[in-house]
Amino acid sequence: MTQERVPIELRVEALEQLLVERGLVDTAVMDKYIAMYENDVGPLNGAHVVAKAWTDADYRRRLLADGTAAVAELGYKGPQGEHIVVLENTPEVHNVVVCTLCSCYPWPLLGLPPSWYKDPAYRSRMVREPRTVLAEMGLSLPDDVEVRVWDSSSEVRYFVLPERPAGTGGLPEEELVPLVTRDAMVGVARVRT
Ligand code: FE
Repeated sequence: MTQERVPIELRVEALEQLLVERGLVDTAVMDKYIAMYENDVGPLNGAHVVAKAWTDADYRRRLLADGTAAVAELGYKGPQGEHIVVLENTPEVHNVVVCTLCSCYPWPLLGLPPSWYKDPAYRSRMVREPRTVLAEMGLSLPDDVEVRVWDSSSEVRYFVLPERPAGTGGLPEEELVPLVTRDAMVGVARVRT
């Protein structure tokens, strides 16, 4: 197909130009959003949610019951965060998130997705052979841990509540925040001390 020989950047530019010309998109608004997600919104938001859930049992319950409402309590909402479902990792169950179709991701909590999340290999292989892909990414799970793979979409954005690492019992919320990584909230890593 001819269009496959045109680099993606050029296709995106052409598409953007058409949307602007037809008045469907305002470039100033678009630039504002891009700058916001590049500079202000990132995994630190998600880390706040996780640290609060680890230290506040009532919040944890609300978070697992209605993710969208519970993260909005902390002020995190907006595009791609309308329907957030939180999955809790436990010693028995490990959850990991993928978007098989494209790159759906909980922007208000994690910012923009990393390039590996958008990679066709990650998107297809995580479904077929999650243990292998996780091991390649540095997370080897024992056989008795059940792995659950969740496919984010335009309807639902999944977010992983990682296990609180052992030995952090005495730490307050603000000291837990820096331990929580983006990868742990996608489910491709564990939180370490
Ligand atoms: Fe997607």
